[in-house]
Amino acid sequence: MAKSIKISQNNIIIGKLSYDSDLLEELTGICIEKNITLGKIEAIGAVKRSCVGFYDQTSMEYNFLNFDTPSEILSLTGNISIKDNKPFVHAHILLADESGNSYGGHLAPGTIVFACEFIIYSFSGAGLKRGMDDETGLPLWNI
Ligand code: ZN
Repeated sequence: MAKSIKISQNNIIIGKLSYDSDLLEELTGICIEKNITLGKIEAIGAVKRSCVGFYDQTSMEYNFLNFDTPSEILSLTGNISIKDNKPFVHAHILLADESGNSYGGHLAPGTIVFACEFIIYSFSGAGLKRGMDDETGLPLWNI
């Protein structure tokens, strides 16, 4: 059975990321700086290169794909919770190359910003902590 909690929206933070920064590290840094431990992230823009993960459900390991070409961020969507007592960003990204072909996956370090506009929706309420889930091998929410 699905498990859920009720939360309410607190603040909305809107901004742009630094040129040449690491997309995931920069988003995580904003959450740490502003002490956002529960929220939603969305962003659009462009990256110089990208690294995305695909979780192999059999081996229970991430395989990472590196793309050394510029691409558009068609959509970045993710959430903020707590892992190892710190704000943790879990985001997925959909990218498109110069021909309009799209690809993407679990956002990993190594995705470098060309330009990026983001919106963070901060929620109030009990923060969600991540813990290891034995069925999936993933650090999922403890609800
Ligand atoms: Zn993921």
